[in-house]
Amino acid sequence: MPELSGGPALPQERRVVTAIPGPKSQELHARKQAAVADGVGTVLPVYAKRAGGGILQDVDGNSLIDFGSGIAVTTVGNSAEAVVRRAAAQLADFTHTCFMVTPYEGYVEVAEELARLTPGDHAKKTALFNSGAEAVENAVKIARAHTKRQAVVVFDHGYHGRTNLTMALTSKNMPYKHSFGPFAPEVYRVPVAYPYRWLTGPENCAEEAAAQAIDQISKQVGAGNVAAIVIEPVLGEGGFIEPAKGFLPRIAEFAKANGIVFVADEIQSGFCRTGQWFACEDEGIVPDLITTAKGIAGGMPLAAVTGRAEIMDAAHVGGLGGTYGGNPVACAAALGAIETMRELDLNARARRIEEVMKPRLQKMAEQYGVIGEVRGRGAMIAIELVKPGTKDPNPEVTGALAKACHEEGLLVLTTGTYGNVMRFLPPLVIGEDLLNEGLDILEGALAQQA
Ligand SMILES: *Cc1c(COP(=O)(O)O)cnc(C)c1O
Repeated sequence: MPELSGGPALPQERRVVTAIPGPKSQELHARKQAAVADGVGTVLPVYAKRAGGGILQDVDGNSLIDFGSGIAVTTVGNSAEAVVRRAAAQLADFTHTCFMVTPYEGYVEVAEELARLTPGDHAKKTALFNSGAEAVENAVKIARAHTKRQAVVVFDHGYHGRTNLTMALTSKNMPYKHSFGPFAPEVYRVPVAYPYRWLTGPENCAEEAAAQAIDQISKQVGAGNVAAIVIEPVLGEGGFIEPAKGFLPRIAEFAKANGIVFVADEIQSGFCRTGQWFACEDEGIVPDLITTAKGIAGGMPLAAVTGRAEIMDAAHVGGLGGTYGGNPVACAAALGAIETMRELDLNARARRIEEVMKPRLQKMAEQYGVIGEVRGRGAMIAIELVKPGTKDPNPEVTGALAKACHEEGLLVLTTGTYGNVMRFLPPLVIGEDLLNEGLDILEGALAQQA
């Protein structure tokens, strides 16, 4: 792979020169523990100094291979040239006016890009926000205003954020919901087609899961009471679950037949991550509304709801917005990120990353019984770890593997309802040599565990 580092000439090589975390990081972490609320956890307390391409450099001079992208955010790399150029120019012009007070072109341009890039050729409109959770909340507001209904249907293993409404939409108790209730009402959870863990086997999974979900919605909620069905086309925090083929189209069809707004939460899976602009394109799904954030703006806080113009326009004037929503610097960064995705054809790069990673992980799975399944698409790949010979979740080995990788200078993240999924979200501009080196480290860690 050619060198595609976005940052200014940050050497694209792993370098571990101290213990991980090193002394300077440890010193900073002691200050963090004293000054920052404990509820704000850290996966790996190495304190960042610079980052770019596939490398994250810390304050002790260690260079880590980045298989996390700040949780699927720096898809175009950290400090990507076009992101920095456009955001810096915007910073020099003005930092904020509030789009609801005096608007600016960048916001409109981002909305125009989202209309072009998202699935479907119907008339579309967009509203911009600061975070993914805010986008999901607003999608629900819009769907309720449009349908004049209240119920929202979500799925097992779903994740949609940490605000009050999105905690209600999120399935996992610990750490997202525990002790933070009561939660927003009129939220109903139904089964999702999780092939690896479907009791009657993966072959029947799509059909049975869809039938159960639709039956529960019809019998327990009443299809006519449902404003929105909200689903991640590839479930992120739930463990990179790809719903069995056929499940999403069946649910989308049911939504359409019953006047329910179908919302694809593409906050993690969108913007080239799976090798397509949006993961729902894989089965030709055209959502009514789509929520985006994470990869949209190269690390600047920005989120969006995009969808059918007649649905988006259902909220009354002044009903949507926020002080910072669609901040001009974040919009400039988004235009730089989208430019980078197009110019470097990052969809093709994501597919190439899958081509490199999946066969190697599959080989590891044949050799090491702790890997129950290898799954995912593009640069959204995961392994689910189990007790060998069973499907019993193995969070212990997952944590130990992550720790071993971290010590060798490979940043990996874990996830999953059962805490037993190791997920790989490299920046799409990572070099193939670093990608393979990261996999070598993982393989070494697996050999130690086995
Ligand atoms: C991260 C995420 C969110 C929440 O986004 P924030 O920016 O953290 O509020 C919502 N949905 C999905 C699918 C996500 O991955």
